[in-house]
Amino acid sequence: MTRVALVTGGMGGLGEAVCIKLAALNYQVVTTYSPGNTKAAEWLADMEKQGFNFRAYPCDVADYDSAQQCVALIEKEIGPVDVLVNNAGITRDMTFKRMDKLNWDAVMSTNLDSVFNMTKPVCDGMVDRGWGRIINISSVNGQKGAFGQTNYSAAKAGMHGFTKALALEVARKGVTVNTISPGYIGTKMVMAIDAEVLNSKIIPQIPMARLGKPEEVAGLVAYLSSDEAAFLTGANIAINGGQHMS
Ligand code: NDP
Repeated sequence: MTRVALVTGGMGGLGEAVCIKLAALNYQVVTTYSPGNTKAAEWLADMEKQGFNFRAYPCDVADYDSAQQCVALIEKEIGPVDVLVNNAGITRDMTFKRMDKLNWDAVMSTNLDSVFNMTKPVCDGMVDRGWGRIINISSVNGQKGAFGQTNYSAAKAGMHGFTKALALEVARKGVTVNTISPGYIGTKMVMAIDAEVLNSKIIPQIPMARLGKPEEVAGLVAYLSSDEAAFLTGANIAINGGQHMS
């Protein structure tokens, strides 16, 4: 039996590593990309050249209707979703003094509403079938806060509240819900941070003195997606090189 894993934002730095890892473990991997992403076909072709048979669907995860339509199409064309990785996310960093409603709303809807929007159409099916894995990609900055990230820290902390509440509701149904909170991982999102800030402020805070690798987070997603992880639910697993221990 081939399980279907849906990874939102699978064309991004972390998402791509998750797609590759899950494909290597024989999941049928499906990803979403933003409707405005003009490089989706190129990414798919590149992945195909590397031997990966990914499927990809446009979806604005911040938009409820878009998410419902996307999942309905995936279930019709590929099959029920067994593993959902809520990975799509954005940052719009600025101090609270400068934070306007537009940048607050953008981050809340893309990083937090998205979790509701994407989980809603797959959760009942997982419960009915008696097996499912929901994995929410949060952030160390949702655990500890970060200067200039009131929007992002609030959304990422909110993800874990969602995880704990839903984990309780589906615990007896073979469905687990967990949060992963990565520290700084060397993806586009982090490389967009000013190099001076990265080298003088961020890396010195990491006891391992380096950024994490996308593959290291993907390995944790793979474990949470597995049968062996059946007893692990409602957790917030930190993967941050020792930067924050709670
Ligand atoms: P990227 O910017 O590389 O990827 C983000 C992905 O999210 C992109 O694939 C993008 O799709 C997708 N996305 C953004 N907005 C939407 C939307 N409205 N609808 C659909 N898809 C959307 O970031 P990372 O890979 O670094 O981050 C992935 C996740 O990990 C995020 O949730 C991030 O907050 C979290 N994280 C990352 C850390 C890091 O150090 N990199 C640390 C902690 C957490 P498209 O390209 O098609 O626009």
